[in-house]
Amino acid sequence: GHGNAPDYLKGLNPEQRLAVETTEGPVLVLAGAGTGKTRVLTTRIAHILATGRAWPSQILAVTFTNKAAREMKNRIGLLVGEAIEGMPWLGTFHSIGVKLLRRHAELVGLRSDFTILDTDDVTRLIKQLIQAEGLDDKRWAPRTFAQMIDGWKNKGLGPDEIAEGDARAFANGKGRELYRSYQARLTTLNACDFGDLLLHPIRIFRKHHDVLAEYHRKFKYILVDEYQDTNTAQYMWLRLLAQRPSFEAPLRSTPQDERSDPTNSPARDRAPPDFSGATAQGQPPKAATRPVSENKVNICCVGDDDQSIYGWRGAEVDNILRFEKDFPGATVVRLERNYRSTAHILGAAAHLIAHNEGRLGKTLFTDRPDPEDPKVNVHAAWDSDEEARAVGETVEVYQRQKHNLNDMAILVRASFQMRSFEDRFIEIGLNYRVIGGPRFYERQEIRDALAYLRVVANPGDDLAFERIVNVPKRGLGEAAVRQVHDTARALRIPMLEAAGNLAESDELKPKPRAALREVAANFARWQSALETTPHTELAETILEESGYTAMWKNDRSAEAPGRLENLKELIRSMEEYESLRSFLEHVALVMDAEQNEEQDAISIMTLHSAKGLEFETVFLPGWEEGLFPHQRALDEGGRSALEEERRLAYVGLTRAKKNLHLWFVSNRRIHGLWQSTIPSRFLDELPEAHVEVAEGGNSYGGYGNSYGGGFSAGRQNPYGASRFDSVGSASGGSFSNTYATPGWARAKANRTEATDRNWGSRSGHQVER
Ligand code: ATP
Ligand code: MG
Repeated sequence: GHGNAPDYLKGLNPEQRLAVETTEGPVLVLAGAGTGKTRVLTTRIAHILATGRAWPSQILAVTFTNKAAREMKNRIGLLVGEAIEGMPWLGTFHSIGVKLLRRHAELVGLRSDFTILDTDDVTRLIKQLIQAEGLDDKRWAPRTFAQMIDGWKNKGLGPDEIAEGDARAFANGKGRELYRSYQARLTTLNACDFGDLLLHPIRIFRKHHDVLAEYHRKFKYILVDEYQDTNTAQYMWLRLLAQRPSFEAPLRSTPQDERSDPTNSPARDRAPPDFSGATAQGQPPKAATRPVSENKVNICCVGDDDQSIYGWRGAEVDNILRFEKDFPGATVVRLERNYRSTAHILGAAAHLIAHNEGRLGKTLFTDRPDPEDPKVNVHAAWDSDEEARAVGETVEVYQRQKHNLNDMAILVRASFQMRSFEDRFIEIGLNYRVIGGPRFYERQEIRDALAYLRVVANPGDDLAFERIVNVPKRGLGEAAVRQVHDTARALRIPMLEAAGNLAESDELKPKPRAALREVAANFARWQSALETTPHTELAETILEESGYTAMWKNDRSAEAPGRLENLKELIRSMEEYESLRSFLEHVALVMDAEQNEEQDAISIMTLHSAKGLEFETVFLPGWEEGLFPHQRALDEGGRSALEEERRLAYVGLTRAKKNLHLWFVSNRRIHGLWQSTIPSRFLDELPEAHVEVAEGGNSYGGYGNSYGGGFSAGRQNPYGASRFDSVGSASGGSFSNTYATPGWARAKANRTEATDRNWGSRSGHQVER
């Protein structure tokens, strides 16, 4: 009975308990954010271990990030006691894939010490292949083909399996041939790309039934978190491991078998665990007495279709729908009670996501609505720097109320948004950490751009010069660069000067010589413009004339548009400084600020990397049309891209436990021009009852009623009048004077008002540019 249940089960609700205790057979947990899906997975693993159903090494558990894997290991440890020393097969699809492939590399023609190529390596390799075919690599861009291959691999397709039309689409019908020679080349190099980490194991499992059978014996339980974001290849991989076809002999499975299992890793995994947690509760390990049903597929996947946010990377939310078909007799568990967020946050999130069509549909409730709970706050700011300043002030208010920075997070739609927060927090001495990526000024494209600027500001900066002398590629090989280096050393002159000298000598071949001549001439011209041209303008010129911007514009990888946005943000951030020199000094100081993992710090990350996490207080800046929903989704048109943006908004809202602050700004600089922005349609999709429009108030610079009524002002609102019209007029009359005006007029009126009354002295001048 309940009374005897081990502690780890006691806190669960009946549905969660069902999902944990239905250890045999397929289980699908389909439930909204914060309902305890991840907790169910963790407890399920603890339960399997504590009841002796399997050893740690017999459990395959897939998480979406390595961080999530680490957290899950810790929590399992806490639930079952110290005796469980690690879970060797708990990790991401990729990390588990590497492990499998290292064991069986020879079956796909690799050695176990194969290397994993990154995107740059892959692109370079493809370029060689394209050239070897006698094709024009300008017309048939290597990066485009790298993307195509990646897409095929996400779908689980090798060279022989891709559709005829797809194969013909590239290089005059040579697509399939190129893909084939790419794979052959990888084998020669004893290398693989990221997609192969899944595809090779799939191939091995399909071809070598004995190997697959070995893993069928080995993995008694398979668990998958964030199931809605698996792609087709990952799904195939899971199905191969989870489904036991009839050609296999019936499986015997007790933990004892594991002792002789040659595939079993470290000896410590095989030591009998000490189930003190369970036995103390009067529950002896069951394995010895209880037969585990054979040939059953003990797979448990948990997910939320509303949180599917990786469609752009090939994730197939349909995998959820297929589950019951592929695993007949699956127990489907729905969890509806949310343990994470207040009723206001849940109400806002549920209302927003209801605007998507084609959902599986779920209810969410919390049974602790508290009249004290704050509503979801919506704030306006003039521009992103003002937004960062205001968020910083709000954070400080929470700090004074004894909130930890560790319990707060800023979740952005695009990484360029991080810049203003990082700058501001360094200025006011607020600890922060950037999760899931480098800090703004440490990003590759920012470091490259800064290197150009540093050489212009200081021609003797050889480190910076070396970084960009051949970025973008100018046909300067290693030998040429070394010669520049050696000349500079020998003559004790800067490398830039040495480059100029070499360009005039005949020590180099014509091509590198021409390249160096151009580099030297460019820098000479930029340096002479330094005194006469505004530094932001000069920086833009440099990035254009050097071909650096073009390099990313021609890049077809998924990150390229984000890099271009970051470059624009870099230029924008320079405006606050008087000169290039003072800007570079500022950057040096920012880069010097240490990120200390131990310290109490607010987290900054993208919405995509916030999946699965939770924080007491969450800030969501930049809710404007064109940023969120992102312009790329709007340009694409159609419902699906916009719906993915909305799911991302849903993920953002549901990260908050108690305090949730949304921001929009009225001005952003786009292509060097200040443009008025329109509040995100997602703000209009929030329910009035759960939202409060912050009055602005004096603490945030006194813009009071400057942002006008109705977030949808100036935009065709498909849902009729903005819901915020009434919120606006209700909140102390600050919007009342504009309430009756049509949206577009209202927006205009308020913008002028804002500029004249509140901002003229501070940043209003920027509008005129
Ligand atoms: P997401 O969809 O965002 O990944 P989730 O469904 O995985 O959310 P969890 O992160 O597992 O949800 O749980 C959300 C919060 O609720 C956690 O803090 C968790 O500890 C807590 N929680 C879950 N179940 C219970 C419960 N039965 N009793 C108390 N707290 C619970
Ligand atoms: Mg989760």
